[in-house]
Amino acid sequence: MTATRIDGKAHAARLRARIAEQVAELKQAHDLVPGLAVVLVGEDPASQVYVASKGKQTVEAGMKSFEHRLPADATQAELLALIGRLNADAEVHGILVQLPLPGHINESEVINAIAVKKDVDGFTVANSGRLATGQRAMVPCTPLGCLMLLRDQMGDLSGKEAVVIGRSNIVGKPMASLLLGDNATVTVAHSRTKDLPEVVRRADIVVAAVGRPEMVKGDWLKPGAVVIDVGINRTEAGLVGDVDYASAVEIAAAVTPVPGGVGPMTIACLLANTLTACCRANDLPDPA
Ligand code: NDP
Repeated sequence: MTATRIDGKAHAARLRARIAEQVAELKQAHDLVPGLAVVLVGEDPASQVYVASKGKQTVEAGMKSFEHRLPADATQAELLALIGRLNADAEVHGILVQLPLPGHINESEVINAIAVKKDVDGFTVANSGRLATGQRAMVPCTPLGCLMLLRDQMGDLSGKEAVVIGRSNIVGKPMASLLLGDNATVTVAHSRTKDLPEVVRRADIVVAAVGRPEMVKGDWLKPGAVVIDVGINRTEAGLVGDVDYASAVEIAAAVTPVPGGVGPMTIACLLANTLTACCRANDLPDPA
């Protein structure tokens, strides 16, 4: 039997439609419009595409979008001054600095200059710590989108064996925290993990966030596993994930495709976080 193809694109469209309704209600009931500021430094082509797409979807959801483009040679001080202005701007509820930043910029200092309440990417040390300690946090968009897809596919994750491949601060680690929060039994694998196929084979849930084209093969999987492929790899054959989709669908119960799986959920979750940030800034309950 071939696995279910988890349609992240359709799921993200439903999420965006719900957010647009909530944004309209917020406007009507409280005369509030959530605002997202995106900061782009330099001319990286992939970053430009992401930023344009984020701006478009922000406006489509009825929110305000503020784009700030700085030249590649912008200084650390200029960038910090901009973040300071956005932190103080009441119309801006969420701030996102598009990564990667040029090499002469201290990325960590810039990210951590973002006001914690406006950190809709959830990358500040404060939000990472809150998530890791089970406190109310802004949750990084990609792992949040993965969790939504998993809950939708599997319902209760309690007691499931989950293997997260990758331990980055922006995907692997927050993903592990979220799965723990949902009471899964979590293993985090990385480049030093011994016998990775054997580790993956015990998982009911596999989240691959590695950056290696089609590394995870079907014969690594436990029959019936649910596989979330975060990887985005540009190859001569086009865009592929970290999972060998063709062999994975022969063994798994459900797999996310690349493209059309996790990617669209990431931007939808950014909009969700911006709406949440706006509600919290105005002492309103989080949107349902
Ligand atoms: P990083 O490069 O920061 O982390 C990669 C992780 O994979 C590291 O922890 C590394 O281990 C581990 N790794 C590398 N090689 C192996 C291996 N052979 N076996 C096991 N583990 C290995 O990447 P990110 O977390 O930022 O991103 C991962 C992927 O997800 C990329 O393809 C990226 O493009 C994509 N991505 C997609 C998003 C989306 O919206 N869909 C958003 C963000 C990222 P170690 O720590 O030991 O080096």
